[in-house]
Amino acid sequence: MLRVVVLVKVVPNISQLRFDPVKKTLIREGVKNVLNPHDERAIEEALRVKEKHGATVSVVSMGPPQVEDVLKEAYAFGVDNVYLLTDRAFGGADTLATSTALSLMCQKLGYDLVLGGKYSVDAETSQLIPEVSQLLGTTLLTNITKLDFISESTLLVEREHEGGYETFELGLPASLSVSEKINRPRIPKPQDRELAKQRSVVRVGANELSTDLSIFGSAGSPTSVKAVYDSSYARKPIIFDATTNPEKTISEALATLEQALKEKPALTQPQTEAQGDPSKRVWSVFLRGEVELQTAKEVLSRLSQLGYTAEAVFAEEASDDQVHSACKHGAKNSLVIPIRDSTWSSKAMAEGIAQAIRREEPYAVFFPSTVRGREVAGRVAAALRLGLTGDAVDLKPTLQGEIVQVKPAFGGNIMAEIISRTIPQLATVRPGVFEAKELGGGECPTKWLEYNPNTSEAIRFIKSRPIEYTSDLYHARFVVCAGYGVGSPEGFKAVSEFARSVKASVGATRKIVDLGWAPPHLQIGLTGKSINPELYVAVGVSGATNHMVGVRRARVILAVNKDPRATIFSSCDVGIVADYRVALSHLREGLRKIGQSLNPE
Ligand SMILES: Cc1cc2nc3c(=O)[nH]c(=O)nc-3n(C[C@H](O)[C@H](O)[C@H](O)COP(=O)(O)OP(=O)(O)OC[C@H]3O[C@@H](n4cnc5c(N)ncnc54)[C@H](O)[C@@H]3O)c2cc1C
Repeated sequence: MLRVVVLVKVVPNISQLRFDPVKKTLIREGVKNVLNPHDERAIEEALRVKEKHGATVSVVSMGPPQVEDVLKEAYAFGVDNVYLLTDRAFGGADTLATSTALSLMCQKLGYDLVLGGKYSVDAETSQLIPEVSQLLGTTLLTNITKLDFISESTLLVEREHEGGYETFELGLPASLSVSEKINRPRIPKPQDRELAKQRSVVRVGANELSTDLSIFGSAGSPTSVKAVYDSSYARKPIIFDATTNPEKTISEALATLEQALKEKPALTQPQTEAQGDPSKRVWSVFLRGEVELQTAKEVLSRLSQLGYTAEAVFAEEASDDQVHSACKHGAKNSLVIPIRDSTWSSKAMAEGIAQAIRREEPYAVFFPSTVRGREVAGRVAAALRLGLTGDAVDLKPTLQGEIVQVKPAFGGNIMAEIISRTIPQLATVRPGVFEAKELGGGECPTKWLEYNPNTSEAIRFIKSRPIEYTSDLYHARFVVCAGYGVGSPEGFKAVSEFARSVKASVGATRKIVDLGWAPPHLQIGLTGKSINPELYVAVGVSGATNHMVGVRRARVILAVNKDPRATIFSSCDVGIVADYRVALSHLREGLRKIGQSLNPE
């Protein structure tokens, strides 16, 4: 029988978390623990496989004994076994040490399919499944949206990446992370929840997995957190009741909004005086895909401006134009690893890059934080047992000569500065956080590196299709978000058209995504996207904490809601109490001007 292992994490309910600015820590008192919402989807998918094809489904987690009660909920969903890796030796584990423990547990249990959520909402690295896959030697795809069996040992898998959707045939054993689009998890019946409480979770200690305890916990963790700081904006809401004299009141609200946009300072991150050491070779990895190539140029520009010897590393044969462009964006050298991969094999890419790292010994290697980039980076980190920072939004040299990687965590509640004690330092870098600047003349030496392919990955590309509705929420400077208050699918369409007319990107709450009014990739919030626009306009949105965690880094928030008691009026900068249709008709001209100044092209 098929053996499915689901890796899950118990996380704090991050919408309840607050930052203590004095102690510089998160306030955890009174915060409930929950199953990571993305992992619930992985459990659901495992159960669907079980129902269709027959399988044993085991849930595996790592954490302190207190998380057992939350883990027992997995029994209520219908899984067969629940294991908790719990031991002092596991304490303080980073992604590598966690992946090591979890993969040893998978080996102990036996597995054909390893599933997990696309990321945990507290750490947001998306690195665990790629690292586990590398340690187990399985095939890998992340962010999958569909899963079918075409034979006993072959899957047909669709995954979403930044450029659209791709379908692959994939051999078992496989490790897969699931996107939020793959399913809606079932809601367990009350009697199943009661029965689940009676069942026990099997505890597993570190010495049941290995005699070498130095591979676990803080001892086995190359990365550490150097500092954390608050990354959300403070807001003092000013509310306008436009139910009686909408034209006049909304024009006053617009004036207040314009003032807030002019005067409210942007969040600044602590800056460093240090410069990069020019004797250090630091790599920016170019992978296939528009976003991947663009991000690699952005990183090159940043590294070069910091003073390092920035080098462009092409993980496949590169065209003259690509090399030329990399040199223009600050590369001192271009290195080409001639990997021939007609499908998409993160294993081949990672193997080529790992071989190049061993031979060339760079000081740091940066990958684009995209679906493809994270697969390759996670595999490289696990193959070479290196620390990896996921989704960095800044890179800063320190006076001690390190490169600090700054990343958001806990739903954007905090920024954490991460350093790694292993060389090369590895990080994935979020697209769009640095400017791709032309810094050089376009000529730099090109070196072809050797690549010796080992075993191939059982993966075959079948087809691709473009994304149905493009909306670049991550980079958007102006977002208009529709909530359930828009009333219908037509209401959502009207708000989308309004957004387009004022040069804003459109977003949606989970409620209207669940209802099918808006596509899932527009969802903002805990289980959707965390965004950081200059202006965020919430239309018919109640302001639930699970939604608002996604907009904490929006500089200015304007809320339109007909209910004066709506929660959003306590977490916005400017609020308008009105029916949304009335409000938008009076806001159109003013917001169009703001949209024009935020997005001049
Ligand atoms: C684990 C978990 C994760 C979640 N993740 C997310 C997430 O990522 N993103 C997310 O958005 N939610 C998420 N949710 C759901 C979230 O808790 C809320 O249920 C959801 O955000 C509410 O959506 P809404 O504001 O559109 O709808 P509602 O809460 O129903 O609010 C509609 C609002 O519209 C107003 N309104 C009605 N008619 C009008 C009108 N004509 N004009 C103006 N205003 C009007 C109402 O006064 C009301 O305030 C999550 C929930 C859970 C449990």
